Amino acid sequence: MGLTHMQIKELLDENRAHECEGVGPGKVCVRIAAIAELPSRFGAFHIVAFYNNKDGKEHVAVVHGDVSGKENVPVRVHSECLTGDVLGSLRCDCRDQLESALRMIGRMDCGLLLYMRQEGRGIGLVNKIRAYGLQEHGYDTVEANLALGFRDDERDYSVAAHMLESLHVRSIRLITNNPRKIEDLTRLGVKVTGRIAHVMPANEFNRFYLETKAVKSGHLIDFNGKMHLAEQSDAPIVEGMAEDVIKVVLQSQE
Ligand SMILES: [Zn+2]
Ligand SMILES: [Zn+2]
Repeated sequence: MGLTHMQIKELLDENRAHECEGVGPGKVCVRIAAIAELPSRFGAFHIVAFYNNKDGKEHVAVVHGDVSGKENVPVRVHSECLTGDVLGSLRCDCRDQLESALRMIGRMDCGLLLYMRQEGRGIGLVNKIRAYGLQEHGYDTVEANLALGFRDDERDYSVAAHMLESLHVRSIRLITNNPRKIEDLTRLGVKVTGRIAHVMPANEFNRFYLETKAVKSGHLIDFNGKMHLAEQSDAPIVEGMAEDVIKVVLQSQE
């Protein structure tokens, strides 16, 4: 059972004039701006659109089932990737990660995905394409890395933390392979009661990850020595991946 009309009305009413001290060092405050049903190929969802006082971006929560007042709600935090999520780029694995998370949540009693509009880890589309271009012109991983703006995600987690609060989620189980994400959210006042490993089903598009031989400082290197930049903040594990590769993936997150 998803959000009822009554719950939607209440959420919108209480957010209309919402103000607070803000979350995190950036004093981030968000407001639910609009809610609608979102039936999708991954199940029945509601989409909740937010305003915030920080980056002017329209972040959304994709909610399955009734999460209001609930404990241990499965939550995935996904960063926007136009090239991967929408255009099906194979330069990254964002779409695989997004689809497998939505599919997983759609099958659970309840859960939600926060879709954060922070393209290229917050540096924007143009800079991300610039980093792709640099890689094609022989720039090394460090330079491409810098161009992609690998940086502290704290501010973005502040928005996510407040979004969960706005939805009255009491505690979460984070869908991630990255324990550090749990620490970051916890520091911002989110009660994280557990972690659900994010294991993606194998398909023809993530075969690369099954063949991956190394994960180095945020990059996955395939057997042909080609570099793939990790754009989501945690590295993927794919069903059927060798034990030693899984170990390297998990170690790379520590
Ligand atoms: Zn607030
Ligand atoms: Zn991507």
